[in-house]
Amino acid sequence: MVTNTPQTAPDWENLHEEATLVDLHIHPSLKVSLFHRLLTTRLYSARGFDPFSLRSDFTSLREGNVDVALSCIYAPEHGILNECRPLRLLRFITPIVWRKVFCQTPLQVTLQMLDDLERAIPASRDRSTGGPQAQIVRSLGELEALLAQGGNHPTAFIHAVEGGHSLEGKLSSLDTLFDRGVAYLTLAHFFENELVYPCYPWPETLQHFGCFQGQRNVALGLKPFGEAVVERMVELGMLIDISHCTPAARARIYDIVGNRAPLIASHVGAYEINPDPYNLKDWEVRRIADGGGIVGVIFMNYWLMPRESARGLNFITRTLEHFVRVGGIEAVGIGSDFDGFTDPPDDLKDASEMPKLTQRLLAEGYSRDAVHNILGGNALRVLRQGWGKR
Ligand SMILES: [Zn+2]
Repeated sequence: MVTNTPQTAPDWENLHEEATLVDLHIHPSLKVSLFHRLLTTRLYSARGFDPFSLRSDFTSLREGNVDVALSCIYAPEHGILNECRPLRLLRFITPIVWRKVFCQTPLQVTLQMLDDLERAIPASRDRSTGGPQAQIVRSLGELEALLAQGGNHPTAFIHAVEGGHSLEGKLSSLDTLFDRGVAYLTLAHFFENELVYPCYPWPETLQHFGCFQGQRNVALGLKPFGEAVVERMVELGMLIDISHCTPAARARIYDIVGNRAPLIASHVGAYEINPDPYNLKDWEVRRIADGGGIVGVIFMNYWLMPRESARGLNFITRTLEHFVRVGGIEAVGIGSDFDGFTDPPDDLKDASEMPKLTQRLLAEGYSRDAVHNILGGNALRVLRQGWGKR
């Protein structure tokens, strides 16, 4: 006999649905500005590393229940043309993109990429309701208003900028970005800039096509202009992202900021698990936790556990577990780096698959409250404490 038992969603599905999920670091704007991708169209890739795929489009973000996406703008640094000479061919292959990216100043490119992304947003429409799938949020007040809509609200897109080269050595550029609604600046990126020295952009084992053979001296740190920028960011209430900074620069930033503002490391791994200077040592995680900040785990095993053969979710949860043990449950979050020309795990290749993370965390014994913290509760707290409050 067949009985009609009511179908109830599994516990992890309910938990994922009710949690506020914040992804601290995604790069859909790169695909919009460089490849003219419409974020309304899904462009799935079966491969892990596929620069032309789209992993944080509007639909994937909504399906994955990503409530808040910190959408990072990166104006490509001119140094990549020296360290990866084949890219110079772009001048002939895509002259329009070439002019946009390499014939304007970094701040001009950054502002244009912000414009490109904002222009892409109105096209987002939920197929069932006809309502917007995404909305730009330029202040904490706007974020709170959007979240207060509850249940089926659009994904909140918050601007962020990666690489202090975008400031062009002027403090006034910081104010310009802050006024545009940029919540955080990642001070460093691939190359030395006016603020700071960076770590090596990729692990040495991943230097393809003779690209990125140059050296980075991780003993060099924060420059005087970088110190002034950090001070101004504390003053403005713009979050400071220490990702890509050298260990020496990070140490200086912890000292300068103290407990005056929560710091973020938006997309990193743990040095204890993978001893690369890009990753944070345990004392750093504790320092960030003590200041009320947050460490976002990147979804890329080559930073987290390069020797892990199964390129799956386990390398994310093992890193999360380490950060929780060291810094406490309130110090961790997620920063997938989707669409940042990355190589995500085989079983979490785009934002729509985020529920798998919730399922895994519950299976690993985290309490419901702990899962809420990891998925976005902690990141929301940092935004509330650190964004535009002074
Ligand atoms: Zn990055």
